[in-house]
Amino acid sequence: MNRITELFGSMSFNDAVMRERLPKEIYESLRKTIDEGLDLDLTVANAVAEAMKDWAIEKGATHYTHWFQPMTGVTAEKHDSFLAPQGDGNVIMEFSGKELIKGEPDASSFPSGGLRATFEARGYTTWDPTSYAFIKDDSLCIPTVFCSYSGQVLDKKTPLLRSMERINEQALRILRLFGMNDVTHVASTVGAEQEYFLIDKDVYNKRKDLILTGRTLFGNKPPKGQELDDHYFGAIKPRVMAFMKELNEELWKVGIYAKTEHNEAAPAQHELAPVFTTTNIATDHNQLTMEIMKRVAQKHHMVCLLHEKPFKCVNGSGKHNNWSLSTNTGVNLFHPGKRPAENKLFLLFLCAVLKAVDEHQDLLRISVASAGNDHRLGANEAPPAIVSVYLGQQLTEILDSLENGSDYVATKTAKVETGVHVLADFKKDTADRNRTSPFAFTGNKFEFRMLGSTLSIAGPNIILNTITADVLSEFADKLEGASDFDSALSDLLRTTVHDHKRIIFNGNNYSREWIELAAQRGLVNWPTTADAAPHYTDPKNVALFERQKIFTKAELESRQDILLEHYNNVYSIEAATMLEMAHRDILPAVFAYNRELSELMMWKVQTGIGSKDKAATGLIKQLTELGNELAQNIAALDEIYHAFSATCGNMQKAAYCRDKLIPAMDELRTTADALEEIVDARHWPLPTYTDLLFSVDS
Ligand code: ADP
Ligand code: MG
Repeated sequence: MNRITELFGSMSFNDAVMRERLPKEIYESLRKTIDEGLDLDLTVANAVAEAMKDWAIEKGATHYTHWFQPMTGVTAEKHDSFLAPQGDGNVIMEFSGKELIKGEPDASSFPSGGLRATFEARGYTTWDPTSYAFIKDDSLCIPTVFCSYSGQVLDKKTPLLRSMERINEQALRILRLFGMNDVTHVASTVGAEQEYFLIDKDVYNKRKDLILTGRTLFGNKPPKGQELDDHYFGAIKPRVMAFMKELNEELWKVGIYAKTEHNEAAPAQHELAPVFTTTNIATDHNQLTMEIMKRVAQKHHMVCLLHEKPFKCVNGSGKHNNWSLSTNTGVNLFHPGKRPAENKLFLLFLCAVLKAVDEHQDLLRISVASAGNDHRLGANEAPPAIVSVYLGQQLTEILDSLENGSDYVATKTAKVETGVHVLADFKKDTADRNRTSPFAFTGNKFEFRMLGSTLSIAGPNIILNTITADVLSEFADKLEGASDFDSALSDLLRTTVHDHKRIIFNGNNYSREWIELAAQRGLVNWPTTADAAPHYTDPKNVALFERQKIFTKAELESRQDILLEHYNNVYSIEAATMLEMAHRDILPAVFAYNRELSELMMWKVQTGIGSKDKAATGLIKQLTELGNELAQNIAALDEIYHAFSATCGNMQKAAYCRDKLIPAMDELRTTADALEEIVDARHWPLPTYTDLLFSVDS
């Protein structure tokens, strides 16, 4: 065994470990629970707990924790020791099936969006056997779901698991109609590509805004950014390389298949892609990846920034959610095969997604809404806030022929001729990449590209699974009742394409024309979270979630409230941080420099060297004017910030934030950034963008 295979999964209580350590009947019973969703009984749980504990202690673990994903979007844990004191003063290591299955963290400090009164603090965590336990920092981490005393869902995992069950049920109905009776399970799969920035810890420490908000609230575009495109896929610096090596190893240990890594478009920006797995595990793994990235960066005296837009005028960070459906017999339901035009099963699933995305553009948009991501969507670097689907020329032509009832004539797939004999010519893919599309079909999966880099991928995948399951169930209802399956299927495909083709767009999503065209097509375009979030509880959405048994109306309302509250809190912290920095750091720097120049002038006048120093007088004038403007902007923001804080109701507050607070913050920043250009570097209190972006330089 080489070092990597030895390392891989060494800290994960995965299938191989379970098979080796559990009695055969127990292992098989657990597998049934995992694969077929059968109930778990306590004898199985007891045996698993015992084996898990022994394994974890051998690996050096002293504690265990129920690891869960409250609605904060980050993970939470509550550690308990394995130690059980005995009457005789000795201790033994104990861990029972009951402790594995159920935990009781105090739920009162996690957001519930009004679901749970504070007097009802009890919350329960319950083992999710479909995601493997792992060891982190000497603790056995057990993936769990989290709900309130009265059974209301307080986390992101429960609805995700529910949505996976729904898509399984509905996809199976369709597969039966196609005679695929050997399939017993359909899983949604995801590979989440993660973008991030790395900067040096010393410069980071000098930026209050980065420390408190994760992004720079002030700062000018650096003279050199990504213009030369010399960073994208460029050679990786040794210090970053060392970080990536350690990161990979840490990820491999807990069983995360980190596969590729390369530099991204902006200086100091990088990307990591894992190998895809089931959506539930992919979600756990992405949360864990973000956490491990931050920790490993610290060890290398760097900071990993996961904010969507750490730097203005520099490419932001996103997360690409590659999503597909796979059967337990190994069939990818979005695999077009050699002759997609004749592959009716593929076309049906494709049409289901088209319809789902068209009918629920609003929910997909809402699923990626956040204060941080608002800086990216529609800002010419990320897909716009408008949802559309890229299919490429061939599939679009196939769908056209379906709609028109005409025969599809395949355009021959061309070869790319390299013109060099020693290089093999290779066949072109059926569709080129379209990097501007928010939702692109990429060969055998869909790539949802609107996610921000910090977002938990649970939310978007709950939506993707639910909306697709909903359409599949409608399709299954129609087809199951049909007397002539083939003609019913043709009808269904034709009408679906006809009704939903407006969602297909293969052109440049970054262009002005698209915004206009999309408006003509009646597509949703909500630029900010404040615009999008109020639609979360539209009657159509409440009906969908209730029909698919994902959320009750109250649960949906709570999620909407948490989304808005988070948006408001982020801006509240940002505005307060801006005010403090402007007051205490920037304005004093302007005064100090101004005073220095004035003293110079006075000295010059006194000594008679040059009372007509145009450079200095001009600069003093400019500094004074901009300084006054800065003081005015500070006062204006201060007033608005207080009015914002006093506003009641998260919906009203978010609207006020969008309409008043953000514009006032922008104005303050513009003036401060203009001052950065003229204040002496010795006086300027903050590291510049150049200092930050080129801080890891070896
Ligand atoms: P690209 O050519 O765009 O780099 P890759 O095949 O490398 O595409 O995949 C990019 C991401 O998509 C990876 O994280 C990969 O694991 C994931 N991916 C590939 N196939 C699937 C699938 N069937 N379901 C979900 N994710 C997938
Ligand atoms: Mg990608």
